[in-house]
Amino acid sequence: MDKAIRVLLFLFCFLLCAYPTKALQNYEVGNIRYKSFSTHTQIIIEKTAQTDCLPARELTSPPRLLINLFPAVLLTLQGRAEVGYEKEIAVGDSFIQAVRLKQEHESVLQVVIDLSITEYTYNISSEEPDSLVIDIRGPRDASDKDLVVDLLKKIELSPSISPASPEQKGKVFKIVLDPGHGGDDPGAVGTSGLKEKDVVLAVAKELASLLEKEPGIEVHLTRDDNSFLYLYRRTEMANQIGGNIFISIHANAAPSRGATGVETFVNSMYAEDKEAALVAARENRPAEPKGISREAEALLWDMVQNKYKSESNDLAHSIQKRLSEASGLEDRGVKKAPFSVLRGAAMPAVLVEIGFISNPWEESKLKKDDFRKKIAQGILDGLRDYLKKIELIT
Ligand SMILES: [Zn+2]
Repeated sequence: MDKAIRVLLFLFCFLLCAYPTKALQNYEVGNIRYKSFSTHTQIIIEKTAQTDCLPARELTSPPRLLINLFPAVLLTLQGRAEVGYEKEIAVGDSFIQAVRLKQEHESVLQVVIDLSITEYTYNISSEEPDSLVIDIRGPRDASDKDLVVDLLKKIELSPSISPASPEQKGKVFKIVLDPGHGGDDPGAVGTSGLKEKDVVLAVAKELASLLEKEPGIEVHLTRDDNSFLYLYRRTEMANQIGGNIFISIHANAAPSRGATGVETFVNSMYAEDKEAALVAARENRPAEPKGISREAEALLWDMVQNKYKSESNDLAHSIQKRLSEASGLEDRGVKKAPFSVLRGAAMPAVLVEIGFISNPWEESKLKKDDFRKKIAQGILDGLRDYLKKIELIT
């Protein structure tokens, strides 16, 4: 047999690594295997449906891809991995040298893919809830170039209105409110059963009724009932109606029941710290429908929101100040993280976390109408401060 064919046949073999095969539970990550193809290498990670992956980071010298899985605990032959446990799987093909796993935190599993090439593209998909598939390919091919051209056309079609422009004065200013989650996606759920999707819808409706009284302002809701909407669809709707400001409203959750306070996020390529990354990981669920190269699209949409970086930042600070005053809750400040729901907004966009539903005391407050009114008033006052600053209202 020709040597090249034998090598190719070997590369097509399905290689299993030595992890126990059993039904996974409690965020366990089990079998990790890879397949080598002539055009790419595929890594398949078996996981539970709850485990998600944070946005990948591309590192250089040497080239590697870093992916954090959360919540995730590696299952070893000895059982669940302790914090600090490390494991290396040698791959050694044309695209990947090795896959290194480290239990970074009790619920964060770090996956580092050491690459054999410096020019590559990658795609991470979790279409099946029980597996994560990572493809590493060589330099981009023509189909990806076509995709980029298509996306750039789409972005050009999006309205590009600077809120500070003089021609905007006197015109109707469109505020898009986005109550998070909905339908089968409850968002965070408190110990007494309060659902994030219900609280944020109530606050968004309250805020909408306050905004309707403001002259020159038109208010839109991405959902006004218990319906499910993909994250990309929310900003797509905001762009289609020519929105001028996008505010996504959420309630927070953390593994510690003591976590407390309000915080406002702006989009960025990377999270500024681990806590911000965990909020983004939670809010970026459920995953978007697949079918196109998500990483290329994400990069381009990040560029769209990046145009409004300083406006989004100003808006976030105005809202955060008034929201923390009005709520009386701890001021956790303005933070940066990659949010799927913000990145496509062709307008200043922020994501507001109105308190921790995982904290029983804050959950009890979030249940009350008068507290929800205070939250809505706080966001409105922050928004008014911002609009005054850019001289759109007096
Ligand atoms: Zn949320």
